[in-house]
Amino acid sequence: MRKEKKLIFNNTRFKTIPEIFDIDDKFSIIAGPCAVESLNQMEQVAKVLVGNKIRFIRGGAYKPRTSPYDFQGIGVEGLKILDFIRKEYKLLTVSEILDPRDVEIALEYVDIIQVGSRNMMNYSLLKEIGLTNHPVLLKRGIMSTISEFLLSAEYIVSGGNKNVIMCERGIRTFENRTRNTLDISCIAIIKQETSLPIIADLSHSLGCRDVIKPVLNAVKACGADGVMLEVCPDRTQALSDSKQQLNLNEFIEIVK
Ligand code: PEP
Ligand code: MN
Repeated sequence: MRKEKKLIFNNTRFKTIPEIFDIDDKFSIIAGPCAVESLNQMEQVAKVLVGNKIRFIRGGAYKPRTSPYDFQGIGVEGLKILDFIRKEYKLLTVSEILDPRDVEIALEYVDIIQVGSRNMMNYSLLKEIGLTNHPVLLKRGIMSTISEFLLSAEYIVSGGNKNVIMCERGIRTFENRTRNTLDISCIAIIKQETSLPIIADLSHSLGCRDVIKPVLNAVKACGADGVMLEVCPDRTQALSDSKQQLNLNEFIEIVK
């Protein structure tokens, strides 16, 4: 009979706190537009983040879209904008890659590599990131159980990379008032069973802006280490996720 392998993150001695993501210290906010569209857009957001003492800026250079005809992101140009922003504004950048061949360029340009929900089970990508020591934000797949989510993290940590930040971003259910159903029990379970930090993405889970505040309080109560929020200068002009993004003044109001 095969002996079941003990998972690394279940080992109580396993300590995984990416230095850059100080979970003991404070509740972190990762905010920024859905997609990096221009330097001007990113600078407007960066100024608000700095003004509100937020350390992380997000923005997708490669956008995984349901339709191949939708805006796919500006690619390397977007990574270079993020690189400029982090240097100029002393912010830490979070950006998604979809392809294992892009790990190398992401290492050069972003502080935290995001693995999006569609790629939670892209095992080639997970293995490639596992070979690095770079912080990674792993999002839960839209149709994945908590155990599957944890096993995807195991792919990364078993490769040697302990710098994994989990992200609950909602799962698909019959509910359609929200874009997805945020599973707050996932946050509590991951806090209880592992030493991995976990944040909640309130933009992609809710898909709307009106209940962000109370839900933010709920995820905090469950032990979340932070939240991700999409914010841009003018959502009516955004090339992706225009409904759920906060405008700058709405974002400031929530942060306060
Ligand atoms: C994103 O964060 O830009 C994104 C596409 O999110 P998700 O993978 O959760 O859909
Ligand atoms: Mn988005």
